[in-house]
Order: sequence, then C-alpha cells, then structure tokens
Amino acid sequence: MNPRVKGLDRVAPGTQFDAPVSGFTTFRIGGPAWAVARLHGPEQLRDTIRFLVDRELAFRVMGKGSNQLFPDEGFRGVLLLLGDGFDSLEIGQDGLFTAGAGLSLPKMANVIARHGLGGLEFSAQIPGAVGGSVAVNAGAFGQELHSRLVSVTAVNRQGTAVELPASALKGCYRTTALKGHQDLVLTSATFQAVPGDPKAVQQKQKEYGIYRDRTQPLKQASAGCVFKNPGKDCASAGALIEQLGMKGWTVGDAEVSRKHANFIVNRGQARAADVLELIARIQKHALAEAGIHLHPEIEFVRNEGEASGLAGIEESRESPAIRESQV
Ligand SMILES: Cc1cc2nc3c(=O)[nH]c(=O)nc-3n(C[C@H](O)[C@H](O)[C@H](O)COP(=O)(O)OP(=O)(O)OC[C@H]3O[C@@H](n4cnc5c(N)ncnc54)[C@H](O)[C@@H]3O)c2cc1C
Repeated sequence: MNPRVKGLDRVAPGTQFDAPVSGFTTFRIGGPAWAVARLHGPEQLRDTIRFLVDRELAFRVMGKGSNQLFPDEGFRGVLLLLGDGFDSLEIGQDGLFTAGAGLSLPKMANVIARHGLGGLEFSAQIPGAVGGSVAVNAGAFGQELHSRLVSVTAVNRQGTAVELPASALKGCYRTTALKGHQDLVLTSATFQAVPGDPKAVQQKQKEYGIYRDRTQPLKQASAGCVFKNPGKDCASAGALIEQLGMKGWTVGDAEVSRKHANFIVNRGQARAADVLELIARIQKHALAEAGIHLHPEIEFVRNEGEASGLAGIEESRESPAIRESQV
C-alpha cells in the first residue's frame, strides 16, 4: 500500500488498495490504482474529498468507466466510485425528474419510460452513469443530455455541497467544463423531460437499441466511439475510417472494430499503449489521405506531471475548468 493513502479506509470503509483499474472500465484496460473507494452518500463523499485534498492526493471520480483509457502503469491516486446513496430517482411535476449521479443511464431510461417521460430515449443504451454522462455531455442520434439538463448538485474540492444551473457546466458537443478537471463531483442531475405516452417512449428506445445491436460491437470490450465526428464535410468519423480501409487494423490486441470503424475493441489482452499507438496511426492516416484531423472523444487519463504514452496523438482541446468563484 502506498503510505500516502493510509487511513483512507477509516473515512471510506471497504477501500481496496492497489486494485487494478481494468476491472472498473468497459475497455478492461488499466494498471493498479493506489486505492479505489466506493462511497455511499454525499456526506461520506464530502469527508473523503477533504481527506484527499488535505493530503494533496490525486483523485478521479468514476461513473461506469465507459469513456476513459487508463495507463498500463496504473493510476497514482484514488478512484472514487459512487455506490448506493447516489442511485435515487425522483419523478417531479410536469416532466421534471432528478437522478442520482451513480445511477446507470439505461436504468434511468427504463424508469422514466414507464412514467411516459420522453425526450431522452437516445440515452437508453449509453452504458454510463448519470454523473459521468453529464460530465462528458453524452449524446446519440443528434441529441445530447445537456439539451434536457436543468441543474446539478455537486461537491467541490473544499468538500462543500453546491447547486449549479446547467449553463454553468458549458456543455457542448461531447464535452463540458467538468471534463478532465475533477473540480466538482456531481451528486445528482435534474432533467426536463417531455411528458407523453409510456408505450411510445418505450418503442422509440427499443428502435434505438435495435439499431445499436446491428451497428455496434456491443459484445466486445471498448469505450464506445473513439473519435468525435469531424463535422463540416465529414459528418461521421466512423464512415471516414471505414472508407480509408482501416477496419480490422490492429496493434497487439487492440483492433479497429470490423462492425463499427469508430470503435477500438480490446480482443482480450490489449494494453493502453496498444490503443494509443492504434489511435495515432488512424489519425496520421486520416490526415495524410483525407486532410482531416480526428480528435479523440475518449479521455486519456494521465498521472500528475506526466504526458506518458501520448506522443504523436492529437488530443481534443477541452473547455476551461469552472472557476472557483463559480462554485
Ligand atoms: C458500447 C458503448 C457505446 C457507447 N455509446 C455512446 C453514445 O451513444 N454516446 C455517447 O456520448 N457515449 C457513448 N459511449 C461512451 C460512454 O458510455 C459515455 O460517454 C458515458 O456517458 C460515460 O459515462 P461514464 O459514467 O462511463 O463516465 P466515465 O467514463 O466513468 O467518466 C467520464 C468522465 O466523467 C467524469 N465523471 C464521472 N462521474 C462523475 C461525477 N459524478 N461528477 C463529475 N465528473 C464525473 C470522470 O472523472 C471522467 O472524466 C459508449 C460507450 C460504449 C462502451
């Protein structure tokens, strides 16, 4: 155990030390974290953040780990998982509802559909948690969570609970002011849905699900779409990668999916280094052959003071962090 995390299990009983991150991500990739703490409510979250900030320990909150690539050497810090205590769902009046940050999006979608709450059908098969999905502004089929987001509650780095309007998070295409910063841990999100017929909402969700089953490699480990769609003359990163003949390209056990060219799948033993090398090769080829810069949608986790493994990769420019004065 790293001596700097000694005592964390007093604040967060059940903390696992030196636990492989791979078990907490959908890519199934990542070396050990110094500690992984599963928290069971906002009060424990506040205490834990104070503990970590007092000791100047790096930490990252995890949703379902479906949009991140962790380094092979592991994470020199603490992963925070939101357990029970963050999985509530309260249905309010006139289409408003509030979901705990740890609740899975498919579960949320299931329940709101039964209440006939529409407008978020696109999210029903996105394998994230509410907090992680709001933090990256997940979306599909031309829609995104922030178009339905009203407000959030969160805990800041001082360990104080705050409430913010959606506009403070500055959501835009697959990013927000939260992504990549770890300044705020979301504890819940309130959305405005469109009241309607439960059967119609369920039917729309089902159609989206059938489309995904047909087009995405859902049985293989991945982190979803690797690149953002470039826009302008090239609407889809997947179509571009396919046209340029990159389906099936491999580095080690990392492979450009043969089913959906914007997915990189882990065939079993892929390392982060393999995925990064494959991403760099795809970017280089897309630039050379089509003059298009492909920017990653997935987040590359780095240890403090390191830019490990990212040589040759063109990263997305994320939004500036939310300023202290705003939280
Ligand atoms: C098969 C598959 C299909 C996918 N399809 C889609 C799709 O259609 N559309 C889409 O947008 N994405 C898609 N994804 C990617 C991913 O599922 C989404 O981006 C998802 O919303 C990420 O949520 P998460 O909980 O897994 O976030 P994580 O990967 O756990 O975290 C993402 C970021 O959010 C931060 N974060 C997590 N929780 C919190 C919190 N409580 N407070 C503050 N910050 C937090 C993390 O620190 C990290 O920076 C897909 C992935 C897979 C594997």
